[in-house]
Amino acid sequence: MKRIRRLEDLQPGMVAVVGIPFDANSSFMRGPALAPAQIRKAWNSGSMNLCTESGIDLDAQPNFVDLGDLEVDGAPGIIEKIGAGIDELLSHNVRIIALGGDHAITYPVMKSCSTRFDRLDILHLDAHPDLYDSYDGNRYSNACPFARIMEEKLASRLVQVGIRTLNPHQRKQAKRFGVEIIDMQNLQKAGAVQWENPIYLSIDLDVLDPAFAPGVSHYEPGGMSTRQLIELIRGLPAPIAGADIVEFNPKRDPQEITAMVAAKILKEVAARMIELPVEMI
Ligand code: MN
Ligand code: MN
Repeated sequence: MKRIRRLEDLQPGMVAVVGIPFDANSSFMRGPALAPAQIRKAWNSGSMNLCTESGIDLDAQPNFVDLGDLEVDGAPGIIEKIGAGIDELLSHNVRIIALGGDHAITYPVMKSCSTRFDRLDILHLDAHPDLYDSYDGNRYSNACPFARIMEEKLASRLVQVGIRTLNPHQRKQAKRFGVEIIDMQNLQKAGAVQWENPIYLSIDLDVLDPAFAPGVSHYEPGGMSTRQLIELIRGLPAPIAGADIVEFNPKRDPQEITAMVAAKILKEVAARMIELPVEMI
């Protein structure tokens, strides 16, 4: 992916990667702010080529670019600041893949994307439903983004896949918001979901079993294999309007296994976005 330093160089229809090195709203441990740099390091390590499984050479794709990182700090108003940063990128009529950061970034990123499409559905892949009304007194915690999104009716539909930690509060929240949950024990049903609108795809890497992706803050054994995640992405029948890959924690990834997994997932999400373009408003 070609690094673009001036937003004027963006062309409509491009798929652009942007890092959001923010982890101040992590409920358990810090570290995901280091992820964008580590994913790029894996991407550029030379240990793999940049062809996707469908045969797209991302290295030779002028429409797949890297915008570097958004400038973020822990200051109050950071959620709005992330949203404003994404708004600016989307004003160039590009679709983005955001590299978190913790899952708190999804609320501002998805909110920004929602203004550029008539209707958006969300596919959220995670061990956790992230539907808490508030967590440790923080309504913008990485445990809450989908409660904020559904309260503001930013999506026509929220489908969560891979969930294996539903508690009574979040079950109640899911019911309140009409969330469709395909929990991990029913994973085989995920491929049968019928999609009518473009999809905002949010991938929390802890949807994977920690055996495949140990570099995450919240270990939740019993998750997907990397292969199952790739098949889900490759099988998506509707175009992806925007995406994020979050919760990679390099502090728990001494062998850089998860960095390579994140880079591989980035490749396959980018491939799907290039294969299925979609009009923005
Ligand atoms: Mn999670
Ligand atoms: Mn999450």
